[in-house]
Amino acid sequence: MYLADYHVHSAVSPDCSVAMTDMAAAAFAAGMQEVAFTDHLGMGRWDCAPLPPDHDWGPAREALARARADWNGRLTLRLGVELGEITRAPALAERFLASAPDLDFVIASVHGLPAYQWRDLALIQEKDEAECRREIQLYLEQVRQTALWGRFSVLGHLTLPLRYMNERRGFHATFDGFEEQMEEIFRILIRQGRGIEVNTNRGHQPLPGEKWLRMYRDLGGETVTLGSDAHGAAQVGCAIREGQALLRRCGFTRFCTFEKRRPVWQNL
Ligand SMILES: [Zn+2]
Repeated sequence: MYLADYHVHSAVSPDCSVAMTDMAAAAFAAGMQEVAFTDHLGMGRWDCAPLPPDHDWGPAREALARARADWNGRLTLRLGVELGEITRAPALAERFLASAPDLDFVIASVHGLPAYQWRDLALIQEKDEAECRREIQLYLEQVRQTALWGRFSVLGHLTLPLRYMNERRGFHATFDGFEEQMEEIFRILIRQGRGIEVNTNRGHQPLPGEKWLRMYRDLGGETVTLGSDAHGAAQVGCAIREGQALLRRCGFTRFCTFEKRRPVWQNL
């Protein structure tokens, strides 16, 4: 089976300190044949200061050139990006994309909500399950608007709030009860020819989980990538094989890699 990790961070991201070539080494050691580096580019800095109007793609391109030189012939390496909080400044996101014509792959992600001053979801301290439900509702509205914007390859880690609510804060939150909103998001994506990812979440619960992958497939969705969301070498390639098995269980017969933002189909 073809093994590709399509959500990997490197020292180009502010929250990862491992050089891209070292992340590539980890991918090779984990048996991957292809990697897309998807370093963060959010529409607002984490200290909430405004972003400059232009993004310098130099560090990502230089790190990729070095990794490609080091791993030439052993690993296919793609230039991707994880665009965050697009609804905060969609024109800025378009400007950033226009200045990087050599991108292979674009993940669109929601990590913050306007009602919480765009603070990272990881930092929200929900009081109770009721607040979790309200937060999920607000999150899904941001995801819906992001899906409508549509200038990306896949929607990243749909159901992300569960990572923090359940893994870090001990809730037992689910997206049950939000079927209508999830279906609408999937329909928008399918209509526009956009996909989703199975974020293998470094081995924790996949985002999104089996129920939602089945819904996406039943609605006719097929464009799907698999990514670990690795921020450290030990996480690269984590649970990609299990993610492929999950997709097969949900009725998928193929998944995607991307080249110059066009899908390349891989059998499952
Ligand atoms: Zn993300």
